Amino acid sequence: MNDISEYHRRLPYGERVLPEPLLGGPFFPFEGDLQVVPLAEPVIPEPPRAGEPGGNPCPTCSDPDGNAIWGDEQWVLKAGFEPNGLPMVAILVPREHYRLDNLPPVLTATLGPVIQRIAGAIREIPGVGRTHFSRWGDGSEHFHVWFLARPLGMMQLRGAMIAAWDDLLPRVPTAEFQANARTVASALSSVGGTPLGVAAAS
Ligand SMILES: [Zn+2]
Repeated sequence: MNDISEYHRRLPYGERVLPEPLLGGPFFPFEGDLQVVPLAEPVIPEPPRAGEPGGNPCPTCSDPDGNAIWGDEQWVLKAGFEPNGLPMVAILVPREHYRLDNLPPVLTATLGPVIQRIAGAIREIPGVGRTHFSRWGDGSEHFHVWFLARPLGMMQLRGAMIAAWDDLLPRVPTAEFQANARTVASALSSVGGTPLGVAAAS
């Protein structure tokens, strides 16, 4: 099952596929003469992620309180790993080290409600139109869900390319980020849990 498939055998390794399907699209942030990087061969078995045997230590378990802005008995919300171009980029992690596939029922039961609460709390930040969230999981084994604040009216930032725009847009000043973190943590704490880190400082 975890091996080269028909899908893999069909692909043009070493070649550059054409960028045209994306060029001129309403959400694509680049124009002009672009070329796609050559398609790399698959690496199977895949190298270990952080937190897996043979991989780097789990960054979440190595620094449980690092960048935390809110937490309750089960979950921690972290933000501010680096300066961002969006009003808020955060990750939700369980306090204990689990993957999605072994997340115990006591956590899966609260995952939906906490996602709903965080999405609403991030929308409390002035100028935020919608909260995007996604789970990728390619970097670290410790289950985490990304949240990205999409500024109101910024229609080019709809969809998955918002992550690229986060790297491209001018950096949010530190004081503004901290105010946004306090807004999110305060909204979450009105239901449960506690503001942490920069969000707890008055
Ligand atoms: Zn961990």
